[in-house]
Amino acid sequence: MSMKTTISVTCPYCQTVSEAEAWQSIDTSTDPSLKEAVRQKAVFRFCCPSCLEETLVDYGFLYHQPEDKWLIEYAPEDSAAQDFLNELSEEGDPLQQFVQDGYLIRLVRTQNELVEKLLIFDAGLDDRLIEIYKVLVLLRYQETHKDIEAPALYFYAAPDKKPEIQVLVNDAYDCSTTINPELYQDLQNRFGDRLTPINEDTPLINEQWAFSFLS
Ligand SMILES: [Zn+2]
Repeated sequence: MSMKTTISVTCPYCQTVSEAEAWQSIDTSTDPSLKEAVRQKAVFRFCCPSCLEETLVDYGFLYHQPEDKWLIEYAPEDSAAQDFLNELSEEGDPLQQFVQDGYLIRLVRTQNELVEKLLIFDAGLDDRLIEIYKVLVLLRYQETHKDIEAPALYFYAAPDKKPEIQVLVNDAYDCSTTINPELYQDLQNRFGDRLTPINEDTPLINEQWAFSFLS
């Protein structure tokens, strides 16, 4: 079952403070329409009742897709992320049930990371191999863009299009490269033996994870 709460939102256009509905947890088995709403970030859109302008609000929630045994915690705040990690390892915590049931559990810190994880899993890919793939793309990108600081790379898959790695600079799209299935397979062959089963790995699979895995 999904759970909602209300949060206070200040409209950036007219400064009116109003209450908005925010999800605390999402269960796609009881609310299947939320699958797409999360992937489109519609769950973060809020319409100001005063001026009717649409704004984006940010808040964390637990995303649960039982039919695939996926559990993704979106925690934009450090304290919430730490709480999640603590609860995961705490005996008797309700989250332990998901661990025992062999769920694929992840912790993400931004909306982009949340959408990216879902699109990777939707495509039936291993997020760890995608993170390694992204490091290769990043290194190649940096060779020709030495002046750009901290480009952000994301896996993206539009409907009916080949999946790609997008490069964002200051949150704006810069360029993209299509995923080469042969290179992905090559990474699987090279690193597959060193990877634990995907649902037994650490919940924090990101660029940092890939760099320490490769070092
Ligand atoms: Zn407003």
